[in-house]
Amino acid sequence: MKLICKKCKEEAKKVIISRYEYQKSIVLEDVEAYECPKCHEFIFTEKQIENIEKKVEVIKFHKFSFERKLTISGRSLVINIPEDVVRHMNLAKGKTTKLTPLDDKHFIVEVE
Ligand SMILES: [Zn+2]
Repeated sequence: MKLICKKCKEEAKKVIISRYEYQKSIVLEDVEAYECPKCHEFIFTEKQIENIEKKVEVIKFHKFSFERKLTISGRSLVINIPEDVVRHMNLAKGKTTKLTPLDDKHFIVEVE
């Protein structure tokens, strides 16, 4: 695949960018791109952009947090899980979860 820098008309070379700031506070590691040897501008193929967007989606999802009030069901307390998270994680009624308390402020919920 040959990519030509539109400004310099030079052939861009394939490179791996070790740290690439895609958006403010979203830094990607080891991003594949093409670099113009003259102006050092990065050029991306459609496939490379697709890969970047996939990585960004994962990062954004892991940064996502939500606030929920505890409600009561019988004698237990319940945390409602937002629909977006349910869809993204393929959660469904009846799935087994494992709850591990870490300290008096944190616990981990694993979906099995
Ligand atoms: Zn150039």
